[in-house]
Amino acid sequence: MVIGAGQAGLSAAYHLARQGFAPGSGSVVLDGDAAPGGAWQHRWPSLTLATTHRVHELPGLPFAPASEELPAAEAVPAYFAEYERRFGLAVQRPVRVSAVRRGGDGRFLVESDRGVWRARGVVNATGTWTRPFVPHYPGRETFRGRQLHTVGYRGAAEFAGRSVVVVGGGASAVQLLGEIAPVARTTWVTRRPPVWRQGPFGEQQGREAVARVEAAVRAGRMPGSVVGVTGLVVTPWVRRALDDGVLTRLPVFDRLTPDGVAWDDGRFVPADVVLWATGFRAAVGHLAPLRLRTRDGVIPVEGTTAVDEPRLQLVGYGPSASTIGANRAGRSAAVALRRQLGAGLARTA
Ligand code: FAD
Repeated sequence: MVIGAGQAGLSAAYHLARQGFAPGSGSVVLDGDAAPGGAWQHRWPSLTLATTHRVHELPGLPFAPASEELPAAEAVPAYFAEYERRFGLAVQRPVRVSAVRRGGDGRFLVESDRGVWRARGVVNATGTWTRPFVPHYPGRETFRGRQLHTVGYRGAAEFAGRSVVVVGGGASAVQLLGEIAPVARTTWVTRRPPVWRQGPFGEQQGREAVARVEAAVRAGRMPGSVVGVTGLVVTPWVRRALDDGVLTRLPVFDRLTPDGVAWDDGRFVPADVVLWATGFRAAVGHLAPLRLRTRDGVIPVEGTTAVDEPRLQLVGYGPSASTIGANRAGRSAAVALRRQLGAGLARTA
């Protein structure tokens, strides 16, 4: 059983088939969205393939979009739809899983809004998009302007002429500032000074970054953002924006007021909009009945295998939360489940 049909879930389904768990009879994919595309179908229209970091293709099918200028929210879902057709993955949707429990017979009970499935093994691939994270700051409820998280961003036009505070030190914050600054007054606040990555980010640095995230998740600690590990890329736009002062950052305010944001040292910035580009948490609430989470709210994993429940694989989680990481994780999860369950033993539906 695979829960979630984004990059990680589709990769897992592909590799499960190659490990002897045929789609439909040996494995089932459930997905909460109404259409193919995972979280990509919900991303803002101005996010084009050219402005993503790079969407890696899924195993076995080249990703050959007509243009890099296509919105990622169109091109990636079209590719995923073709992928599901090509490999006969028969994703069942929309099916939203509400709980995964241990059944009495050694199988998992997977409860959803479309009924209950029984599964000998589960690959969880539910991503993060459905769990936007907004930190608490005093006065948030008193702010009279608009607050939105990255998930609600549709484009800069609606902020024209307004005063916008962008909160967050990740790639999304930088990208949204790039779009909004030309039409609005922007203020950028981050908890820590941004680390700009000068020079190439090679394989060695990539391996080191993944190793650090892996070590955190294995130990049951919150891994932090990917950018916290890799640094922010200085693209030509970022270079110009740094020179123009658009990316001059302030430390995060101490509180929100009805009309803006304020610091204890007396500084105040009036704001019409606070845009929280403050990231996501893993959408794993439905796994709570398995009681695998540490105090930090993290499920410790070794590779993709839940340390305390080896028949549960987590992909697109922690170190594999990128399109390339999700691809690799899908394969590891399929191989690990075959080891756990043996070929042909997985009658999942
Ligand atoms: P998702 O794509 O989120 O798929 C999860 C699926 O699970 C969804 O279809 C959802 O409906 C389903 N689901 C969730 N909960 C349930 C449930 N309870 N029951 C049933 N189904 C459920 N990575 C890159 O490598 N390159 C990039 O350029 C890049 N750009 C990014 C830009 C943004 C703005 C963001 C936020 C992330 C970006 N990433 C990028 C990260 C990348 O998108 C993800 O790591 C990867 O695509 C996530 O794939 P996934 O399969 O884990 O999750």
